[in-house]
Amino acid sequence: MSTKKINKKTPTKHSLVSKLPPSIFTNDKSPLKKKLLNKSVRAKVTTFSVCEPIEAEFKERRELYRSLFNSIDEGFSIVEVLFKKTGKAYDHRILEANDAFTKHTGIKNPVGKMSSDLVPGGEQIFNEIYGQVVKTGTPQRFEQKSVAMGRWFNIFVSRVGEVSKNTVAVIFTDITKTKLDEAKIQHSETRYRGFVTASSDVIYRMSPDWLEMHELYGREYIADTKKPSSKWLQKYIHKDDQEGMLIEIKKAIKSKSIFQMEHRVKHIDGTLGWTFSRAVPIVDAEGKITEWFGAATDVTERRSTEDMLHTSETRYRRLFETAKDGILILDVDSRKITDANPFISELISYSKEELLGKELWEIGFFRDKKENKVAMQELQRVGYIRYNDLPLKTRKGKKIDVEFVSNKYRENGHFVIQCNIRDITLRKKEQAELTEAKIETQTTKENLNRLFKCASAIIAVLKGPELVFEMANLQYQKLVGLNRELIGLPLEVAFPDIEPSLLKIIKDVAEKGIRFETNELPIELDWNNDGKRYTKFLSLVYEPLYDSKKKPNGLMCFDNDISEQVENRKKLEEAARTKEEFLSMASHEMRTPVTSIKSYAQVLEARFKKDGDEASVHMVSKLVEQVDNLNSLIKDLFDDTKVKEGKLDLHPQYFDFNSLVSEVIEEMRHTTEKHKIKLKLEDIPNIYADKQRLRQVIVNLLTNSIKYSPDATRINVATRKSGKSIALHVQDFGFGIPKAAQTKIFTRFYRVQGKELDTYPGLGLGLYITADIVKKHGGSIEVKSSAGKGATFIITLPVKMKIV
Ligand code: ADP
Repeated sequence: MSTKKINKKTPTKHSLVSKLPPSIFTNDKSPLKKKLLNKSVRAKVTTFSVCEPIEAEFKERRELYRSLFNSIDEGFSIVEVLFKKTGKAYDHRILEANDAFTKHTGIKNPVGKMSSDLVPGGEQIFNEIYGQVVKTGTPQRFEQKSVAMGRWFNIFVSRVGEVSKNTVAVIFTDITKTKLDEAKIQHSETRYRGFVTASSDVIYRMSPDWLEMHELYGREYIADTKKPSSKWLQKYIHKDDQEGMLIEIKKAIKSKSIFQMEHRVKHIDGTLGWTFSRAVPIVDAEGKITEWFGAATDVTERRSTEDMLHTSETRYRRLFETAKDGILILDVDSRKITDANPFISELISYSKEELLGKELWEIGFFRDKKENKVAMQELQRVGYIRYNDLPLKTRKGKKIDVEFVSNKYRENGHFVIQCNIRDITLRKKEQAELTEAKIETQTTKENLNRLFKCASAIIAVLKGPELVFEMANLQYQKLVGLNRELIGLPLEVAFPDIEPSLLKIIKDVAEKGIRFETNELPIELDWNNDGKRYTKFLSLVYEPLYDSKKKPNGLMCFDNDISEQVENRKKLEEAARTKEEFLSMASHEMRTPVTSIKSYAQVLEARFKKDGDEASVHMVSKLVEQVDNLNSLIKDLFDDTKVKEGKLDLHPQYFDFNSLVSEVIEEMRHTTEKHKIKLKLEDIPNIYADKQRLRQVIVNLLTNSIKYSPDATRINVATRKSGKSIALHVQDFGFGIPKAAQTKIFTRFYRVQGKELDTYPGLGLGLYITADIVKKHGGSIEVKSSAGKGATFIITLPVKMKIV
């Protein structure tokens, strides 16, 4: 036990007297003296030998002293200190003691007694301090425990009386209770701090108004504050929690009660966490807050667990509400529905209210109560039941198929059953359709493969950016050489010598989706893979192929090797050309001799006429007629060559077309005895055209009319004007021309076939040449006819031909 010396300048709350200066005992005019004198003093005066003033003075003083002596709450005694020869104080005797003495010490009637008698085994320390005061005259205040008395005292000692008397006044208070309280408080505060320190993640001390943080130990959890700081709010507290925290602080300060709050803090590593913070106000003797001692615990984990729980609960609920599966929750014991989601209500047409409290068999899941019970028992036993395809009838009688899965699980310490019900009606239907479609696809695929293999066409499939051969049928393989490897090879690897122009065509198809088709493409390649290049003619179709995103991604080739046909055609063309050349030459060569024959025949005819040899005249006239026929054939052949070569030249002039028509008809009248040619001419302007060629046209049309209407007697010819054109109509009433032949008659060598028709001479060139002449004039030719009813040929010519 240590002795605490208390600074004499520090007043204590315990003693009224202690607040009075020691001079009270020597100063007569003190205010206290007056105050005390006015009080009703019933103090009993006992032996007192302090000094010897005059009687009255002494009496007054004694009374005053006595009053004071007994009116105070503190224990008060005058003691004589006893010294050894060595000068060491060893005991003291109580000379005076007030009433409070007993209260504070528990000692009755102490006056006149030795301390060592009153308190056997009492502490020497008291004697020592009293001795010092006697010797030095300096008053002392101290707190001291007397183990022997089992009490704590707050003591003020002052020398009184003469020095030689060795007397001191002792004013004291029993502070045992306060000391105990203090010890208790200290103990509990130490314990609290210890506990808090041990159990908290963060410890802090705040100024009474919380404006300043005195210190904070963050334990590597949040940053320490070692020096007082007023920036703690911004430093530690999440901005969203600052306002709420200030409100809580204000409340705590006002009520001087514990501050407590769960809030977010900034961790040392920059992350955010949750903390539970508490602070107790530390108050002084007067109940004033001296500081706040706080501790905080990291509750981040708990918060995140709580958040997770909350989130998962919210998620579950959301799932439950929005699930596209029906969900039913059942009580394990009663087997009754306790919850149902909206989907199941809709699926089986029961409202949630209707479902609650029902068992599964009541809403159609099991046949009857018994079956329901068996299923539930199975579920209880195994914890799980599943029906992959359960037929179900909804309340409205609709038949559906469901997948039914049921689990038993624990929820808040209690077992529940969750049933998930999925409508698989559509899925089943789709599955069936899919299987069907799969079989169909498979069959189609097989058929296609067979077709691909057996087809006489040459087929290959190339895919991807590198144009890799995916398929090539036997024909294709034959085309490019059976020894050539194709499948799996990119086009340019399989055919390193492929022509760039062909490669471009193929790439355009495969990459840009441009379909390519051609009839006769010469392709030069090392076709047989034997190092020799030569040309083959292919007719081909390159069809683009597309990927799943509809992007061109390859091609399918359908080729046909037409090299042989091309070869044959070329041979035929060559032969035809030789024939044409021969005809052209022959017609040219025949014209002169035939003209001579006609001249000689005409001379003969004139002579026979002169001689009156009618029979010979007739024969020669027939000869002339045939020569004319021959001549026109030769002329046609000659013209044909010209038309074909585009060398039929026109020499236009202005002339009267009507006159030309009349002229030709006049000539033609002699060639037929049977037909009457009726002419109807409209007033038309002079035209600008090749007169000779148009004569040839009129002759040709009239000749045909006569030739192909042997049984008719009439032919109508008319000219007409329409706008800037004139027209010529030649109508006969003969065989007519079948519809199908009407466009063909203007083509080269075409002649309508038929029994009678074959007998009429001709090469099938007349209308071909006629049409060419008309076209060259910028005009047109058409025929109106039906078989057996005659034909009308109409040519239209511009008044003024345009020279092309
Ligand atoms: P062709 O020398 O055979 O007469 P054309 O070119 O003049 O040659 O006529 C072609 C074919 O048109 C004839 O063979 C004939 O069958 C048919 N044809 C031409 N004109 C007539 C017509 N007025 N009536 C019936 N058929 C005609």
